[in-house]
Amino acid sequence: MKFLYKLILVLGILIALSCFVQFVVFNKFFISNTNSLLLSTNEKASKDVSMQLMENFNKIQNLVKTVAENEEIRENQELLNKFNEIIPEVDAVTILNSKGDILRMYGNIHSPGVSNLAYRDYFREAIHGNTYISNVFKIASGTKVVVISVPIVKDGSIDGVVVGIVKLQGTSLASMFDNKEFGRSGYISILDSHGYVVYHPNKERIGKKSIIFDKLQGKSGSKIMKDYSGEEQFVGFSKIPNLNWYVTVITPTADIMTSRNIVVYETFLGSVIVGILIILLGIYTIKRYSKPLDNLIFSFNALKAGKYKKIDSHNYGEEFQEMVIVYNSTIERLEKEYNDLEEAADIDSLTGAYNRRAFNNFLSTLNEEISNCSLGSVGVLLLDIDHFKELNDTSGHLAGDNVLKKLAEIMKSTAGDRSVFRFGGDEFAVVIRNISDERLLSIAEAIRLKCEETLNGCTVSIGAAKFPKDTYSIDKLIDFADKALYISKKSRNKVTIFVK
Ligand code: GH3
Ligand code: MG
Repeated sequence: MKFLYKLILVLGILIALSCFVQFVVFNKFFISNTNSLLLSTNEKASKDVSMQLMENFNKIQNLVKTVAENEEIRENQELLNKFNEIIPEVDAVTILNSKGDILRMYGNIHSPGVSNLAYRDYFREAIHGNTYISNVFKIASGTKVVVISVPIVKDGSIDGVVVGIVKLQGTSLASMFDNKEFGRSGYISILDSHGYVVYHPNKERIGKKSIIFDKLQGKSGSKIMKDYSGEEQFVGFSKIPNLNWYVTVITPTADIMTSRNIVVYETFLGSVIVGILIILLGIYTIKRYSKPLDNLIFSFNALKAGKYKKIDSHNYGEEFQEMVIVYNSTIERLEKEYNDLEEAADIDSLTGAYNRRAFNNFLSTLNEEISNCSLGSVGVLLLDIDHFKELNDTSGHLAGDNVLKKLAEIMKSTAGDRSVFRFGGDEFAVVIRNISDERLLSIAEAIRLKCEETLNGCTVSIGAAKFPKDTYSIDKLIDFADKALYISKKSRNKVTIFVK
């Protein structure tokens, strides 16, 4: 059984090793794949957002151009106000003349507090004929904005500038991305061409310098880098053409690690449970198989020691029932054979009386009983056929055998089957427990008489002795009976009771 326990142990170790290898492979595979997958996903998302943003700005730019090209709208405050309602993407429009003086304003931005904006870069760019999108800056009210400026062309020359102002907090731009989700905690951040945050879901960040800006190179790409919070992030970035702004899509690596750890722990827990189940199943199987086999070994050892022990068949699995039945029937058969052999070994084959070996064993039993002080009275008759040799010589050996058989029958029928022993040759013994002197004598006489009458002239001489009347020793008891027989032999066909 030790082998099976070792097998289970080896199996357990193999399962643990395979789990370990799985974790290592899974970790490596998972990390490298999720890293590259998230980086490329974020890069693609940033490209999509930059396209979307570009389209949005083109739309705003076109709306501002509409104002710049339409004098009627520019000159009419009422129309301008209505225009504002139609284009919510632009929070305010300011009309400047060619010197930068503010001619007209509409929209939901407070007055700039100055009447001339000629010093502003967006004015300078537009007055030179360029449509321009500014970087982020704060206006007098403290609001962070981006400005789109378009030149007003009149009769082939630039007559002024239309400025569209887009607020970056709580406006249409913010609403474009505020509800966008990238993974569990991924987000978008937009940086202007100087690295200032144009959009961030954390409004505090808007207008502040991004710390990842210096690491962004080329039209698009992706990298793992630390952001302002100091945490590592999967960053996908894409440059908005013309504007040179960067759209970044960011997912914290910790978020992925948490998901990964959950998967790893779940897999680990699953493996541990499966491992424990396999070991328990193994132990159960070993016990189921080892118990009957142990019992079988025990029973075989008992058999070796001469005990015919059957196996109780109720406590084992079905697969052992047949084995137990076969074993038990074999044991039963062996026990019977053994008993038969034992008996056969004690019986004289010619006469059917017990033999000398059985007689000696019986004497040992009597001796034991004496030492236990449990032996009551015992009477012994020793018996010898008279002139038997002569009978053999005259009538033949077969006739002699027949006399021996008949004599044994007479003794058995008179003294009982279990009391008659053949000593050897023509000598017999009759041993009877708890018998009176008279009864012993009458049995001896009955035997002698029957022989005389039925054995065709063949007679027997008998010597008798009694325990404890004559002696307390079994050896002496036999000796005294022999002495009595010796006396009978002097006249033959006689019974003699031992007398000291
Ligand atoms: P006694 O009256 O003095 O006893 O004379 P006896 O001739 O009987 O002398 P003894 O007892 O010494 O002789 C025993 C004879 O019994 C000798 C032997 O040939 C014979 N004998 C012993 N065993 C067998 C046997 O199994 N079958 C036969 N037929 N004869 C046996
Ligand atoms: Mg004789």
